[in-house]
Parts: sequence; structure tokens; C-alpha cells
Amino acid sequence: MIDSVLPSYSRANLRFVKGEGVWLFTENGEKYLDMGAGIAVNCLGHANPHLTKILTDQAGNLWHTSNLYQIPNQEKLANNLVQSTFADTVFFTNSGTESMECAIKMARKFHHSNNDPDRTEIITFENSFHGRSLAMISAAGSEKLTKGFEPILSGFIQIQYNNIEQLTEVVSAKTAAIVLEPIQGEGGIIPAQERFLSQVKKLCLENGILLILDEIQCGVGRTGTLFAYEEYNVMPDIMAIAKGIGGGFPLGACLATERAAQGMTAGTHGSTYGGNPLACAVGNAVLEIINDQKFLDKVKNKSLLLKQKLAYLLDQHPDIFEEVRGKGLMIGLKCKILNSDLISAGYQKGLITVPGGDNTVRLLPPLNITNEEIDLAVTMLDKCANHLKLKEG
Ligand SMILES: *Cc1c(COP(=O)(O)O)cnc(C)c1O
Repeated sequence: MIDSVLPSYSRANLRFVKGEGVWLFTENGEKYLDMGAGIAVNCLGHANPHLTKILTDQAGNLWHTSNLYQIPNQEKLANNLVQSTFADTVFFTNSGTESMECAIKMARKFHHSNNDPDRTEIITFENSFHGRSLAMISAAGSEKLTKGFEPILSGFIQIQYNNIEQLTEVVSAKTAAIVLEPIQGEGGIIPAQERFLSQVKKLCLENGILLILDEIQCGVGRTGTLFAYEEYNVMPDIMAIAKGIGGGFPLGACLATERAAQGMTAGTHGSTYGGNPLACAVGNAVLEIINDQKFLDKVKNKSLLLKQKLAYLLDQHPDIFEEVRGKGLMIGLKCKILNSDLISAGYQKGLITVPGGDNTVRLLPPLNITNEEIDLAVTMLDKCANHLKLKEG
């Protein structure tokens, strides 16, 4: 008989019922150090007392009205995002996928409203991930996502990441937008090369193409800047965010310049829940904490510490690990053994990590993790590596 929960995930045998900071606790009271943070979501840790207070206070006042009315919390969050980024305007959603859907619709509508309705093609990159809707599996294009769900949407072309020659060849008068993750997340923590991203931007400017960044995983302080594009000095026209901005509450957003958003007039797009008072109360609280130079500097310092410790770990276990990569607290450990074996060993030792493409293990801890907790995480990884070595030898 089928499970009452649709078995579309192969789940670990872990049943968490409580969280506190970087720690998760199971039904049986076992304690786990969470270096995954719900896949880069719980950016301020579990059950953060400040966020809990903001959420419960708001819950006592007003949960939901509708986007038929003005929503003060939503306006405040939009203003904060506009003040802190390239963007002039924001559409709120409940997830990353929805933020990307808005981004793609907006890009097509821009060209349509610009008397260039044949510009509909969207260029994306191999190994990317933009969500699980029909449009977003079509955007990423990999068979792993699309197989059996055909027909997929037309109008997306995938080329090699970090390959400017291929991109230059594929760009045409039909290209509406180029979509990329500044750091590929699900793909295995693969950063765009700086030169590549600035060449992409140049190509966009020269050819009337919109640049859409998917910062759903790498945004909101994850890299040690508020958004990853700041590291690259490249401004998008449209950007999708989610994950970290809600700190664990479902919230996403599509940010855009006034120009890119010109086609999105009243009636062109919508969402029942997007930008509701509860989600935006939490979003405001998260952004206020993270959008602070001192906080972001600490993320950079912790990143340095974690990377140093991981470099040492690699030296100790050359037969287990191949490479450390990533920015800020978005780190990928490419393994020589099966990544899932390392993750399972972590579960046995009380450590939570997340698998990624290219046989990586992802470390995406809460951004407010302490130095001591980083130390502990690496010690646990060292124990996992020793354990696996014994097993192999
Ligand atoms: C998680 C993720 C998405 C999808 O977000 P959902 O909230 O699961 O819809 C899209 N793009 C990237 C880069 C992501 O990491």
C-alpha cells in the first residue's frame, strides 16, 4: 500500500520535533548539529526567539487578508528590499519556484510590451535548478527532472555553465532573457566565474536581453554579502529569492528594475498568499538582522574559519575528499567516496548535511552559527571520515 505521504522523497529515518539554534532534536531526544538548515532556509537558526516573537505577535493580530487590499508589512518589506538592492519593485510569493515563474513571465512580458513579441527564448544552464513546476523543470531541462512529465514547455535552451563561447553562439534576436544561479546550489555548489558573469552582463546589454538571477539559495546573506551579485559587481534586471528571506516561514520574492517590470500591470500576475502579513512580518525581521554590515562581516569571518578547517580536513583525508568550494556559508565538499555514505555517517554521529550534485555534500548552516559550533561540525566530519576509512580498509 502506498504511504499516506506521497513517496516522492526518499527520506532519512530521522524524526525531528524540536529545534534550537543550530540544533535539532528527535522524538527520542537525540541531538543533531544542523549544517543544512533546511537547505539554506533557517538562516537565523531554529526557533529563533526574536523571529518567534515577531511571528506570534503577528499571529495574534492578523494572518491573511488578500492582495486585493494594501498590506503594510508587505510594503515595508518591499521598501527595505528596494533600498538594499538593485531593484525598484517587488512581487511576493510563497516559494522559490513561484519567484522564478514571476521572473520568466516578467521577462517575456517586458519584450511583449516593448513591441518585440518574438523575443521569447530563455537561455538557462546545464546542471541548474530553478524549481519543480512544469515551467521550471523545462527551464533546467535535465532529464532527471523532466523524464515522464513531457511534454515540457518550449522556449528554454540549456548551455554549459561558465562557457561564454557557447552562450555567445546561442544568443539571438529571439533571446528574451538569460537565467542563472550566481552559485549553482543543487548542482553541487559551483560558483560562476567572475569573468563569465561580467561577460554575460555585457552580452545582455549589447543585445537587449534581460539578466535574471536565481538567488533563491545563494541570496540573503548566504555568501557574506546581502546578495551574491554584489560579490560579482553585476546587476541583474530581475532576481528571484526565497529560502533564507523567510527564515523558515514560506516566503519568496521576485525583485526587478522599473524598466524590466514595465509589462506587469494590474491583472497580469497574482498570488492568494504571496506577501501575506505573517510571512512579511517574519521577512522584515530576518532582513533587519541580516542586512547589517557587522552581521555580514561575521558571516565572512565564519566562512574563512570553516574553509580553513575544511582545508585541513582535506589534507587529513585525501582518499575521502576531493575539493572544498563555495562562498560564505554556502560550501560544497566534493567527495571521492559516495556523498550519501558521508551523509549517512553524519547521521550516525549526530551531524546533518545535505547532498548536492557532482557527488558533493553541502554545508549550509544557519548564518549565526558560532565558531565553536563550526569547530564541532568539522570535528564530526573528521570522525565520519575516519569511520568510513575503517569501513573501506
Ligand atoms: C530551492 C531552489 C529553488 C526552488 O525553491 P522552492 O521554494 O523549493 O520552490 C529554485 N532555485 C534554486 C536555486 C533553489 O535553490
